[in-house]
Amino acid sequence: MPIYEYECRECGYIFEKMVPLSDLHQTPACPDCASRNTRKKLSTFATRTDRPAAGSSCSTGSTGSRGRFA
Ligand SMILES: [Zn+2]
Repeated sequence: MPIYEYECRECGYIFEKMVPLSDLHQTPACPDCASRNTRKKLSTFATRTDRPAAGSSCSTGSTGSRGRFA
């Protein structure tokens, strides 16, 4: 489930919220002042790559065989 960052236009409170795809069309209420006048901020999560390094499994295997031969 993606996490989005919202900013409250009433009090300026910034909060993060996990939003199911079915709820993307509506904005959540501010947890601080309960106003629904909130807007989605551009999330930094979307641009962050969470893929593990491509060579991690390879290096682990070679290290194992090298240890056996030593
Ligand atoms: Zn607020």
